[in-house]
Amino acid sequence: MNTLPDTNAHLSMTDIRWLVNELNTDRARLARALALMDETLGDEAATTRAQLESQHDAVLAALDRVARGSYGLCERCGEAIPYGRLLVMPEVRHCVGCQR
Ligand SMILES: [Zn+2]
Repeated sequence: MNTLPDTNAHLSMTDIRWLVNELNTDRARLARALALMDETLGDEAATTRAQLESQHDAVLAALDRVARGSYGLCERCGEAIPYGRLLVMPEVRHCVGCQR
């Protein structure tokens, strides 16, 4: 991705590239898990599948925020989400205060 907007908050291009890499890895892993579940598992896996699917959606939404330049900002209060928090949960949408 060479055309990232330079408006992704407080994050350096290096930070962003690292986090985007994490997000893409998660996206691939989750998409694969969802496909396998559809092939091999029955209704008892529905809850797990729903969780994976919402995780997958969150990852896609995060990549979309990167593309729009709003990644790393809390969706509720607009504050910058600390890099350490993003490293643990690259797809996170809210700062610690708003998550509660
Ligand atoms: Zn917030």
